[in-house]
Order: sequence, then structure tokens, then C-alpha cells
Amino acid sequence: MEKTKKKMGLTTKIFVALIVGAVFGMLLHYVVPSSHIKDAIIVEGFLYVLGQGFIRLMKMLVVPLVFCSIVCGSMSIGDTKKLGTVGVRTLVFYLATTALAITVALSMGNLLDPGVGLDMSAISANAATVQTMEATSVSQTLLNIIPDNPIGSLATGNMLQIIVFALIVGIILAKLGEKTEVVGNFFNQFNDVMMEMTMMVMSLAPIGVFCLISRTFAGIGFSAFLPLAKYMLGVLLALMVQCFFVYLGLLKIFTGLNPVKFIRNFFPVMAFAFSTATSNATIPMSIDTLAKKMGVSKRISSFTIPLGATINMDGTAIMQGVAVVFAAQAFGITLTPMDYVTVIGTATLASIGTAGVPSVGLVTLTMVFNSVGLPVEAIGLIMGIDRILDMARTAVNITGDAVCTTIVAHQNNALDREVFQKS
Ligand code: ASP
Repeated sequence: MEKTKKKMGLTTKIFVALIVGAVFGMLLHYVVPSSHIKDAIIVEGFLYVLGQGFIRLMKMLVVPLVFCSIVCGSMSIGDTKKLGTVGVRTLVFYLATTALAITVALSMGNLLDPGVGLDMSAISANAATVQTMEATSVSQTLLNIIPDNPIGSLATGNMLQIIVFALIVGIILAKLGEKTEVVGNFFNQFNDVMMEMTMMVMSLAPIGVFCLISRTFAGIGFSAFLPLAKYMLGVLLALMVQCFFVYLGLLKIFTGLNPVKFIRNFFPVMAFAFSTATSNATIPMSIDTLAKKMGVSKRISSFTIPLGATINMDGTAIMQGVAVVFAAQAFGITLTPMDYVTVIGTATLASIGTAGVPSVGLVTLTMVFNSVGLPVEAIGLIMGIDRILDMARTAVNITGDAVCTTIVAHQNNALDREVFQKS
């Protein structure tokens, strides 16, 4: 309870920072005349250093956070052998829905063009360093997934290679079990350290958001509003498509259950996810609701729900897809079809690496951006409005887990339809 209160406090602070930052930036742009104090000391000094400092802190988290959470996640996937087909079906479903989610998001992004008209390169001090991807062949791209030196991959932050190595380490740790208990515990505990560090960095978010937003608005004034609103709309619309068409469609096709009733029964869990922005916190409630209202056996859900809360983040993948289109347009970078394929791949993997707690999707977004050479500065802009999107995407994240669990339960004769009918 105490924790939730604190988090809501942070949410409010970030919203306030966003609004105050926008107003302050606008005042600088329209009211304060250009001078050494305004340009060099306030905008390019104070606001730039604090804003970039916050972005660097976020980047600092990425490699260790993703590495540890994937090792821990795949350690638990390693156990799926015990669950045989349930494990495989669940994994296939989780990965497929995530890939579908990111495709919906990329399409929505291209439909709404959220970043068009926002010239970020004009306000980015290191616009010159904005890199575009070197053209690499498909075979080289595929080969590059395999790390030839994992320590090198960690040092240079090559996310795809880090993920591959982490997956292998996790699976082997699960296989060796007790023999490597100490190493397994080490990763679990280091994961806790990284989660705590994430919380600490996020507590600085109001300052970071204020500086990043006001510098943006000081540079470009009003023209930043519409793109941000469009970005938000794009994420929310894509989330709705995923929830009401993809999930409920799949539910109807695979189980024949009434989708409207399903969503009505599951709504309290979604509301809880929305208010906490924490998939992990909804695990008990989700298992309970699935058992009591949908007739899903706990034998299935006690495995698939925690796994889903750890590795299946469709809502997060959606935010990342729209953000990619937004950032590419804002920085005037054209993405090739191969880049889109890369984004689908990395965002699916990022979803595995995103822990089910607030704001982590924003941290793993840096890895998606890096995979196609987008500048992470754009994250600073969307961070201010991310809390509300975090809440919405978390509700979608856990709905995906619940729908998949119900389908897998149905396929494994672990769904009591009478319970659903009577509820
Ligand atoms: N808050 C999300 C969750 O708990 C993760 C994220 O996208 O940041 O599911």
C-alpha cells in the first residue's frame, strides 16, 4: 500500500513536470528574448545537462537490466520442459501475439504519422551524430545475432547478442538446476538490484522530464504539441485494436467463449493493472479471476500467468512500435522494410526483457531504438506522457496473458465452461 502511494506520487510529479516544463519552455521560446543567459546558461547549460544526465542514467540501466531479467526469465522457461506441450503452446502464443501487436503498432504509426512536422534534429545538439544504419546484408544481419565475444557484446551494448547469450545462460542454469544454484541465485538477486536501481533512476524522472520538455519547447514552441498528442492517440488506438480485435478474436476462434462476457469478467483485473502499471502485482488477482469466473484450472494459470507477466508484454511492444515511427519521423530518418523487420524482432525480444513493473518499457525502448539507429533523445520527449500510456499498456499486457491462458487451458482440457456460463 505504502509503495503504491509513493508511485502515484511520482506519477503526479511527472505530469506536473511535463506541464510546467512545457509552459516554461514556451515562455522561453515566445517571451524571453535571445541572450547569453537564456541560450547558453539556461537552455544549453542547465536544461541540456540535467536532461541528458537523466537519459544517460536510463541508458546505464539497460545492459545489466535486460541481461539479468532475461537470464531469470529463461531460467523459468527452462522449467517448461516439465509442462511439455503447455509450455511450448504458451510460448508460441506469447511470441506470436507480441509480433502481431508490434505490427499493429507500426501500421497505426504509419497511418497517423505522429512525428511528421516535429523537427527534432533542429533542437538536438548532437544532430550530427544521428546515425543512420549502415546497409548490411540479410545473411550478415542473421549472423550478427550470434555473439562471437559475449563480453564484447555486453561492453558495446549489442542488445540482440546480449539477449541470445542471456537466453542460453538461463536455459542452461535451469537445466543444471541445483548444481548451479549459487549462480542462479546470483542472477535473481542481481536482478533485484537492477530493479531497485530502476526505481531510483525513475524517482529522478520529474527533473529529467522537466528539463527535456522545456528544452524541446524552448526550441520549437507550439509545434511540439500536435505530434505528442498524435503519438498518444496512436498508442491508445493500437492498444484498443490489440485488445478488442486481436485478443477477443483469438478467444472466439480458439475457444468459442463469449468475448464480451470475458472482458466484463476480467475488467476488475484490468482496472487494477491500469491503476498500478505493474503486471507483476496483478498475478494473484489474475489467477484467481480466471479460476472463479472463467473456469481456468490453476494448474495451467499458476504457470502461464507469472510467465506472461515476465515475458509477454504486448502493450509495451505497441508503445515501442508507435514510438519508433514517431522518432524516425521526428528525426527525419527513413526506415527500410528490413528496419521494420528488425523492429518487430527486437521489440518482441524487448518484451521478454521488460519486467512487469512501471516504466521499464521505456528503458528497453532504448534497445529497440539502437537496433535501427534511432537517437534515444526522442525518448525524453515521450517520457513526460508515458505514465498514462504505461497504465493503459499494462492493462493490455495482462489481458494478453489471460486470453492466452484461457486458450491453452481449453486446448489442454483444463477449462470448466460451466463456471464461465454461470458467472
Ligand atoms: N508497466 C509495464 C508492466 O508492468 C511494463 C512497461 O511497459 O513498462 O506490464
